[in-house]
Amino acid sequence: MMKSLRELNTVDRSRAICDYCLQDVTHNRQGEFEEMLFCKDCDAKAHPSCMKYSSTLAAQALSYPWQCVECKTCSSCFTARDGASILFCDGCDKAYHMLCHEPEVITKPEGKWLCSSCLNDPGISLEDFSEEENGLESDVASFSSELQTSGANSTRLSTVSPPVNSNHSQINNIPDSTNWTAAQVAEYFTNAGFTKQASVFAEEEIDGKSLLLLQKTDVVSGMTFKLGPAVKIYEHIVKLQRASSRKRSYHQQNGMS
Ligand SMILES: [Zn+2]
Ligand SMILES: [Zn+2]
Ligand SMILES: [Zn+2]
Ligand SMILES: [Zn+2]
Repeated sequence: MMKSLRELNTVDRSRAICDYCLQDVTHNRQGEFEEMLFCKDCDAKAHPSCMKYSSTLAAQALSYPWQCVECKTCSSCFTARDGASILFCDGCDKAYHMLCHEPEVITKPEGKWLCSSCLNDPGISLEDFSEEENGLESDVASFSSELQTSGANSTRLSTVSPPVNSNHSQINNIPDSTNWTAAQVAEYFTNAGFTKQASVFAEEEIDGKSLLLLQKTDVVSGMTFKLGPAVKIYEHIVKLQRASSRKRSYHQQNGMS
């Protein structure tokens, strides 16, 4: 299983197709050569400009093993738990929990945010970003039909929360699984079409709380699923995790006000 994953990640990158514009490294939407970003954890790949990354942000993201927005984990604790409190740096595209970042971020920033190492980097400033992004707005609109079919996110959802969180209707369709029993978890995956795999959740006694703690490696290599269904099952789990952390943060906000 591990071997096949690694093989997937090393497919010939020069011929890889951008998830957004469906062209390769030689042509971005402006018809120019543009280095692509490859997620270190999944099959996602894209021209930085197709995700509305500024040139500064693209250069930073290309300089380390990048994670797509779905796979993004905190650069400090390396987990994706409590997605609602994860901040995305607009200078380097790394993610941090508000309380993992040094110094701790107490109030959620509005708009763009730089992590402390980018703040201290004289080559990176927020002024670089806004203008370049505005220039891309019209392009993005004209590609929106393609984006829908490819399932990619149309905007750079950098600033405060991961993309799924900004889509309320989608969140509302996803149940809060926090208090599910293992049998209910199995039932959910049966209904989602994973009849063969669902029983494993019951056998392994994965209830709602354990489900919310599952990591990608647990699902892809820790359980006995084939890679194809494993990746799809993990997508469902991420949605459930986001939905429940979203609900928790609503509760917290309501409690405070
Ligand atoms: Zn592209
Ligand atoms: Zn990814
Ligand atoms: Zn963290
Ligand atoms: Zn940064």
